Amino acid sequence: MSTATPAAAEPKTYLNYIGGEWKPSVSGQTFDNINPARRSHLIGRFQRSDVADVHAAIKAAEAAFPTWKALPAPMRGDIILKAALILERDRDRIAAQMTQEMGKPLKETQGDLQTAIDFGKYVAGEGRRAEGEVVPSAIPDKMCLTVRQPLGVVGIITPWNFPMAIPAWKTFPALLAGNTVVLKPASDTPLSSVALVEALIEAGIPTGVLNLVTGPGGTLGDALVTDPRVAMISLTGSTEVGKRVAELCGRDLRRCSLELGGKNAVIVMDDANLAEAVAAVSWAGFGTTGQCCTATSRVIVHEKVAQAFAEKLAAAAEKLRIGDGLLPETDMGPLVNQGRVAAVHEYTEIGKAEGATLVTGGRPLAEGVLAEGAFYAPTVFTNVKPEMRIAQEEIFGPVVSIIPVRDYEEAIRVANSTMYGLSCAIFSESARTVQRAMRDINAGLIYINAGTTGAEPHLPFGGTKQSGNGHRELGHKAVEEFSETKTIFISYPQVG
Ligand code: NAD
Repeated sequence: MSTATPAAAEPKTYLNYIGGEWKPSVSGQTFDNINPARRSHLIGRFQRSDVADVHAAIKAAEAAFPTWKALPAPMRGDIILKAALILERDRDRIAAQMTQEMGKPLKETQGDLQTAIDFGKYVAGEGRRAEGEVVPSAIPDKMCLTVRQPLGVVGIITPWNFPMAIPAWKTFPALLAGNTVVLKPASDTPLSSVALVEALIEAGIPTGVLNLVTGPGGTLGDALVTDPRVAMISLTGSTEVGKRVAELCGRDLRRCSLELGGKNAVIVMDDANLAEAVAAVSWAGFGTTGQCCTATSRVIVHEKVAQAFAEKLAAAAEKLRIGDGLLPETDMGPLVNQGRVAAVHEYTEIGKAEGATLVTGGRPLAEGVLAEGAFYAPTVFTNVKPEMRIAQEEIFGPVVSIIPVRDYEEAIRVANSTMYGLSCAIFSESARTVQRAMRDINAGLIYINAGTTGAEPHLPFGGTKQSGNGHRELGHKAVEEFSETKTIFISYPQVG
């Protein structure tokens, strides 16, 4: 007899982690976490927490703060490094769980996890680096310096599309800086955050320093965001939720760091290497089923090459093998849940009604085994006008809109014409053109002759305009984001 498949195994009930203990919610309720590639596969049951659980987690984090803050930063860094090494040791198991939980193919969840591992290793070293400056004073017998101070309890709220990288790239620097944390992950991917918390527990994180509460974003988010004991909120999510969180934080002038949506464009000039541009857009537009915050959703193409580009991109889209991300041959997995299929399809209908030309895709996929999951065909529209809703609004699915333009100036105008400013790319063989684009594009991330996706943990990450509120994550300033600067003036004139 073969062993039971995951689908047949008894689903496990996962608990919150509060004050050093795994505990059920006081609500007594759970929610189901379902594999989007196979809806009969129940991954597990998670706590549908309520406000009392958030309060208990904040209380535990507040109690743990003085001791954690007093631990020397290099020792805090050692715990983070150990956690990164534990994630690395368990990477095959965790990546497979992540694929089952949110759908993207194994090579993508391995990359997501690798970002967490690499950043953990990188930021652990920040515990031993300079934490301030010594600056000359303008006054005799005086010296001036700055030191980094932790803020206190930090509330971290995360999305489902990078279920390990994003919780880790917020939690690691928050902890390294000496803060304690309440983590509230997205309800589509709580298991990945359980894996992160388990790694930190095994690495020796002290009681109360890190707390995990799962459940509905609105109720738990409001409780976390408005609690006077919480010094900072760090949220990655939609611009809509970000605005609400910013408003609530603004009432108490609570620090809040927001990484939000995008409507990322690739510009393809008439001197571009078209094969290279098509391959890059196919990856950046349809990778993670178009659900990266940096996904390419607009391609602004010089009119001389627009038709050729559309034909080649449609051909590339039609070649993608779609299915369960655990299968090695899969190029594109499902959307994160069934609700997203209807939401993406609504945009296809909007695009058609607006007069754009549907080149390929534009429908849910339900043939054979795909009927079991939340699959949607890679979709390409052309003859899209910059003001159409499909060219302005974040669709968060495998839908790419081609917008033909006359020249470079028009391309830049269109690229900068949405409320977002996360990521943007240009393909051109002209050094002069790409140099100008680096200056003219209004976005936090710019790629030359590459698609709009892909981050490196030692470089800052974030967007302009309504893609965020001016903060940057990752990079060597990641710890500053979770710190206050204290300026100290020391006088030592001769006395007596
Ligand atoms: P979402 O905004 O629906 O949810 C994000 C998180 O906020 C979840 O944990 C959710 O439970 C919580 N939440 C929901 N309502 C809340 C409220 N009222 N108060 C506080 N928290 C609340 O986003 P999502 O669907 O999980 O993720 C997709 C979005 O995230 C997209 O818009 C995408 O562009 C964005 N994103 C941005 C980045 C970036 O770095 N800029 C990275 C990844 C994803």
